[in-house]
Amino acid sequence: MELPYAEPFKIKMVENITRSTKEERLRWIKEAKYNLFNLSSDKVFIDLLTDSGTGAMSDKQWSELMLGDESYAGASSYYKLQHAIKDIFGFPYFLPTHQGRAAENVLFSVLVKEGDIIPGNSHFDTTKGHIEFRKAIPIDCTIDEAFDTTLYHPFKGNIDLNKLEQVLSQHHQKIPFIIITLTNNTAGGQPVSMENLKEVRYLANRYQKMIIFDSARFAENAFFIKTREKGYENRSIREIVRQMFSYADAMTMSSKKDGIVNIGGFIAMNDEKLFKQATIYNIMFEGYITYGGMAGRDMNALAQGLQESTTYEYLESRIGQVHFLGNKLKEYGIPIQEPIGGHAVFVDALKFFPHIPQSEYVAQLLAVELYIEGGVRGVEIGTLLADRDPKTGQDRYPKLEMVRLAIPRRVYTNNHMEYVAAALKNVYDRRTDIRRGFKITYEAPILRHFTVELERL
Ligand SMILES: *Cc1c(COP(=O)(O)O)cnc(C)c1O
Repeated sequence: MELPYAEPFKIKMVENITRSTKEERLRWIKEAKYNLFNLSSDKVFIDLLTDSGTGAMSDKQWSELMLGDESYAGASSYYKLQHAIKDIFGFPYFLPTHQGRAAENVLFSVLVKEGDIIPGNSHFDTTKGHIEFRKAIPIDCTIDEAFDTTLYHPFKGNIDLNKLEQVLSQHHQKIPFIIITLTNNTAGGQPVSMENLKEVRYLANRYQKMIIFDSARFAENAFFIKTREKGYENRSIREIVRQMFSYADAMTMSSKKDGIVNIGGFIAMNDEKLFKQATIYNIMFEGYITYGGMAGRDMNALAQGLQESTTYEYLESRIGQVHFLGNKLKEYGIPIQEPIGGHAVFVDALKFFPHIPQSEYVAQLLAVELYIEGGVRGVEIGTLLADRDPKTGQDRYPKLEMVRLAIPRRVYTNNHMEYVAAALKNVYDRRTDIRRGFKITYEAPILRHFTVELERL
């Protein structure tokens, strides 16, 4: 019998979590104005809000904290991280930032100006925010297959080359770079194939455009290339990562994902001139070159985390757990995005509640019902997140209305996953009793989903 995957670690320390009653949760979520971000974490039993900054560090990472060099300038921790980044991605220049969106802020301060157009594959919300804040326009060139949740395609994160070429030829002058998100978070943690990266590079060269990788889940992307793309079965994760990044000019990174640290980010690039320009903004917004937005100890832990996340054994157990949950939900007949992504399971809320209109924030409704049922916190990836059209002020209805159950790295066991699946099944069994969604009573002008307040209809 073939041995199943098993976690390549054992547990040395535990953190207790407490269960609450349904009555308590009904009260708490109402007090939170039906916004799950407003719940204090002690009111949550299993927290699948995000896989960002929620991972468990290893004993080696914790020891690295003690070795951190907190010198203002020239800290050894900076050079340790620089060495790891050069080794793993191949970029000689890098700047630390406090997280991924700060990396975007710094780099886009150099590269993006009013009226620019930035094609990519389903830009992440903070990426879109930083582009639109500068009065530039992101254009989504993701393949159409990504928007059919029932269709199997091994690389739903891919860029549609025809769409991209059209944008490139039409707006040639206005495009500072192409951005590729690895994995494609918004489309469901879906990977981009090596072939697609190569072809986008070829197109970019023809139009002399830079390519930037938004790299939060680059290691998970590499795992999918290894396990799904012909010709890469026998290549190591590290070899695949090096090849992926050979097609990019620069990267932004949220280290809170595949860096397996609780805070941090960086920008890395090939070009010294771009590095020098970005340095100006990094010093203004983040901090001096050799620490940016990070403590020395955190740079050390990140350098170690990058080594750990780029091993096959780690990725097999990490992605194996995400698939364990996804397959349980499928067994129960719950409509999910397929294929199951790398960091999360996405539940298709429009298929879950076909009798409720999208204008009533259906995915938010499902996330709230799941919380009430089991104290499980997921997150809406739908109309609230898509925000209003800056021109018309109307809600933008995305093609997919989903609840994301993001799995923190090395934190929960598969028993927790069984519990989550059972809670969702209970909501599914009573889905026809749920008749109405929400209306908004307060929202911020940008990134509204974090602070939105809602009322039941
Ligand atoms: C999380 C994330 C970001 C933003 O990073 P933060 O660390 O949350 O600021 C950008 N892009 C992608 C794809 C992400 O997943």
